[in-house]
Amino acid sequence: MSRFWSKLAAGLSPYVPGEQPRGERLVKLNTNENPYPPAPGVLAAIAETSGSSLKRYPDPDSSELRAAFARREGLDAGQVFLGNGSDEVLAHAFQGLLKHDRPLAFPDISYSFYPVWSSLYDVPFTQVPLTSDFRVDVQAFPKDCGSIIVPNPNAPTGVLLGLDDIRQLLQAHADAVVVIDEAYIDFGGESATRLIPEYDNLLVVQTASKSRSLAGLRVGVAFGQEHLIEGLVRIKDSFNSYPMDVVSQQAMLASLADEQWFQDCCTRVIQTRERTAASMATLGFEVLPSAANFLFASHPQVAARDLFARLRERQIIVRYFDKTRISEFLRISIGTDEEMDALLGALEDILP
Ligand SMILES: *Cc1c(COP(=O)(O)O)cnc(C)c1O
Repeated sequence: MSRFWSKLAAGLSPYVPGEQPRGERLVKLNTNENPYPPAPGVLAAIAETSGSSLKRYPDPDSSELRAAFARREGLDAGQVFLGNGSDEVLAHAFQGLLKHDRPLAFPDISYSFYPVWSSLYDVPFTQVPLTSDFRVDVQAFPKDCGSIIVPNPNAPTGVLLGLDDIRQLLQAHADAVVVIDEAYIDFGGESATRLIPEYDNLLVVQTASKSRSLAGLRVGVAFGQEHLIEGLVRIKDSFNSYPMDVVSQQAMLASLADEQWFQDCCTRVIQTRERTAASMATLGFEVLPSAANFLFASHPQVAARDLFARLRERQIIVRYFDKTRISEFLRISIGTDEEMDALLGALEDILP
């Protein structure tokens, strides 16, 4: 606490990201990064971004990159918005689209950044309980909410909603913006982007951080009808006109150009996830069905907090949330097969 802080700064409870420890020997399964490298073209594009392009400001509208995203989704460039990581895109959505007199609704167990942005931007919110088996119940969203945000698949559970459920949500709340945060959609879900022409209240947010192995590059994207995108652009241009640097724009173009690499990495992660889930079930874990690049699991005999600590002693880092309803679960990112074998070996060792 400093006497120089504004009342706003003093009153915040900022989001705490998973730790990023340095050290070679660690098996790092705590922040849902991709274990595989980005497409080779990405590295080439970064190397080729020359001094002469760095001395100039980037294209503030990222026109070329927006066009490339639009082509991939069968949308228009005017239906695409880019930001410095999807966290920035989401933050702009909180300010530009989700803040109304009536409360924003989101699941009680979901991305823990949502309450943080709500508090930063003074957005009234209400939390909708997941079912006892940790599913998002689209019927449970209050009729009179002012806006909605749902991660799909949900985080940190990994549980997927089908497009039928998303349609129901969009139809039942036709006067509320519905943001679907698809940070993990490429690991087995069907994207809601194809509903965009039908629904004027749908914004879909995605990221290059997880499925494209580019967490370090910071590229996030939103898809929606033009009027929603314009709402985001108004916030962006009142905050930072150049969120996408020259290197990110070129590198992301190269990632989009190599669809095969992207699909192959996703397939490998999915295969490793399924194998790991099956082995953990054999060890007695309750593992929620995951459509993401992580597993959310609980063991009936050993407290999650203890498991977390004992894995850590063995240089394996997973994520533990000390929060009601999920304090008996661990969130385990999917690494390489070797990393998951190290995890399974350690669990076998630790469990009674
Ligand atoms: C990781 C994550 C994000 C943010 O990703 P960026 O790295 O900022 O693009 C957003 N939403 C959810 C649910 C996430 O798990």
